[in-house]
Amino acid sequence: MVGFTVLSISYDRGPRLRRDETVISFDSSRSGDFHCVSHAHADHRPSDPAYRSLMTLWTSRLLAARGTPISGSTHFYNYDIDVKVYDEIVIRLVNAGHMLGSSMFEVRLDGHTLLYTGDINTEGSILDEPARPVRADYLVLEATYGDPSYRFKPRETIYSMILRWIVSTLREGFVPAFKVYSAGKSQEIMGLVNSSLGVPVISDSNIARVSAVYRDQYPQISYFHIHSEEGREVLRDGEYVLISSARIAERISGHKLHWAVATGWAQTRTFPSYKKAFPLSAHDDFYRLMRFVEEVDPRFVFTVYGFSRRLAANLRRTGRRALAIDESQMNHFID
Ligand SMILES: [Zn+2]
Repeated sequence: MVGFTVLSISYDRGPRLRRDETVISFDSSRSGDFHCVSHAHADHRPSDPAYRSLMTLWTSRLLAARGTPISGSTHFYNYDIDVKVYDEIVIRLVNAGHMLGSSMFEVRLDGHTLLYTGDINTEGSILDEPARPVRADYLVLEATYGDPSYRFKPRETIYSMILRWIVSTLREGFVPAFKVYSAGKSQEIMGLVNSSLGVPVISDSNIARVSAVYRDQYPQISYFHIHSEEGREVLRDGEYVLISSARIAERISGHKLHWAVATGWAQTRTFPSYKKAFPLSAHDDFYRLMRFVEEVDPRFVFTVYGFSRRLAANLRRTGRRALAIDESQMNHFID
C-alpha cells in the first residue's frame, strides 16, 4: 500500500504543524511537541526548558541570562543550515532581524515549504541585520502591528529624534532615562548612544546581564552597571543616559530624571506619565508585513498574534488566501 501523510496546522498556545503523529510547534508552551523557539522574549519561550527544542545558541544564552536556563535535548544551530529533525522533515533557521539570535523557521516536508516568522523586522537596526523573505508555500506570519494605523517612520528618523532629545535633556540639566525591554531595545539604544554621543550609559541589573551576552557579538557596546564602582562615579557626575527595564527612581544623586519609552505602541497611544514616547519598534509595521507576504508569495497565509484578524482580512482584500489562526482551534489541512 502506498502510504500518504496528512498535514495540518492548528493553534494551541502557539502554532502547531502536525504530520500524522509528529507535531512541531512554534513559540508554544504546550508540552510534548517538538519546539521551535524563535527568540528570547518572554512571550515566546517554552515554559518547560527541558522540551525537545530548536533555537539559536544566542537565544539559549539570552534565555539563560533572563532566568530560563536551557536543558534537556535542545538543538542549537546557526542560521542557514539544514537541520533534519525527523525522517524527511528539514528545518532551517533564518535571521528574523528582531533581536540577537532571533530566527524564522523554514520547514520542508513532503514537498511543501512552511515559513514561521516569529517576530520579524525587515528594516534592520543599528545592531541587527534585516530579515529577508524566503519563498514558501505556507506562511505563518506575526501580526503584532498588522493594522493599517501602524506605519513607522524610517529608523534613521526615529534615531535622530532620540539623539536630539537626549542632547536637549542633558543641556537642560536633566538625566535622559529610557524604560525599555531588557533584551533587544535596551541594547539598540545603548548602541545608538555609544556610536553617536560621547555620553556614558548606565544600565540596571537585568539589562547588564543581557548586555553581557550581546557584547560577545557586538563588542562595541559599552555601559556601566548602576551598582558598580564606575557606575556610581558616573551617577555622581550626572551626565549620562540611563537605560532601565523598570522606572526605578525620579531622582538619582540629586539629579532629576526625565523618563522616556521606546515602543511601536507609541505610534497610536500616548504615555502621559513619560516626558517622551518614541515609536521605535523591533517589529515590522503593517505595510512591511504586507510587502513581506508579496515577496514570500505563499499559497496560504496564517496570521498570529496582535492584529491577526485585521491583517488576514487586509490580505484577503488583496486576493490572498489568509486566515487568523489564533482565532480558532480548528485543524487546517494542507494539500
Ligand atoms: Zn519579540
